[in-house]
Amino acid sequence: MKVPFLDLKAQYLSIKEEIHVAINEVIENTAFALGPAVSNFEKNFADYIGVKHCVAVSSGTAALHLALLAAGVKEGDEVITTPHTFVSTCWAISYIKAVPVFVDIDPKTYTIDADLIKDKITEKTKVILPVHLYGRAANMDRINSIAKEFDLTVIEDAAQAHGAELNGKLCGQFGEMACFSFYPGKNLGAYGEGGAVVTNNEDLAEIIRLYRNHCQPEKYIHDDIGYNYRMDGIQGAVLNIKLNHLDNWNGRRREIAHKYSKSFIAVNGLTPPYESEDEKHIYHLYELKLESKEKRDGLLKFLAENDIFPGLHYPIPVHLQKAYAHLGHKQGDFHFTEEAADCLISLPIYAEMTDDMVDFVIDKVKEY
Ligand SMILES: *Cc1c(COP(=O)(O)O)cnc(C)c1O
Repeated sequence: MKVPFLDLKAQYLSIKEEIHVAINEVIENTAFALGPAVSNFEKNFADYIGVKHCVAVSSGTAALHLALLAAGVKEGDEVITTPHTFVSTCWAISYIKAVPVFVDIDPKTYTIDADLIKDKITEKTKVILPVHLYGRAANMDRINSIAKEFDLTVIEDAAQAHGAELNGKLCGQFGEMACFSFYPGKNLGAYGEGGAVVTNNEDLAEIIRLYRNHCQPEKYIHDDIGYNYRMDGIQGAVLNIKLNHLDNWNGRRREIAHKYSKSFIAVNGLTPPYESEDEKHIYHLYELKLESKEKRDGLLKFLAENDIFPGLHYPIPVHLQKAYAHLGHKQGDFHFTEEAADCLISLPIYAEMTDDMVDFVIDKVKEY
């Protein structure tokens, strides 16, 4: 049996008819850039998250860039985030020539350790940018109370957290703004690139709407340097269809994750992901922790030999990437981030996985 990391073809086949109708409509209307399908999606996604505004853009990275811009972050300002993330969280900070200031993760949740944030706040700090990594909410109550105390803006990187909840509230509701990615492999993925910023703040939504479209309040009038960060019509149409399936798909991911965790919890040397009573983890990624890098790399190889294809998220933390060498960090600066990079393996998880596939993965992990 072959178990790929993800099977977008299987998902497509399960919704083929409605997708074709929706894409055809965009083509018939020739509404290729923004347009009615995108406006519909913005409304539906804002309703789903439970916020007033959604501004659809061309990627998650663009969403983060425009959110930081709208928050008034300028050259030399500092943005507090974690080095245990997909690097694009930091690209957005760098595009503005602001400085990412790293805080290590909580080893239990793999999200930013809120207890370490205060020590990193300076005169230049403007934003706290927590990442809801792997589909689990960061410690938002603590983060928001620190932000309030120091008058900082909170922007959520919710690129992996479509539908994740904490204390009955969806990710996307906690910060002043939240950024989503609709990269094809995300829990809610387009048929190309896509992203969105959600917010309850009308002024911020208006700024983002303006800057995503060449900063053009009227045709050929440009008051500032803008961007071409519009969402394609076809992506809006696809996302509208897929949004209706998101809760079902997340439910199936949770079922698989719970089955994995139940099977691994009693096995020596394996630590399944933590999930508390008050959260809904949507398992964008299922992270199993091993005791060492050698054991983790061994499992990766063993599974691949058995036609099971796990992933690594992320094997080199941002503070050790060459692109961020100028920040002057070294190995050892963020212990738990480095441990996660060495010891975590992402097992295959997606809604279309069959029970046989899940059992096969469990058997092979145990055999190892
Ligand atoms: C995917 C992702 C992004 C970037 O989204 P793109 O749509 O690929 O630009 C940002 N942050 C995190 C945590 C992500 O997983």
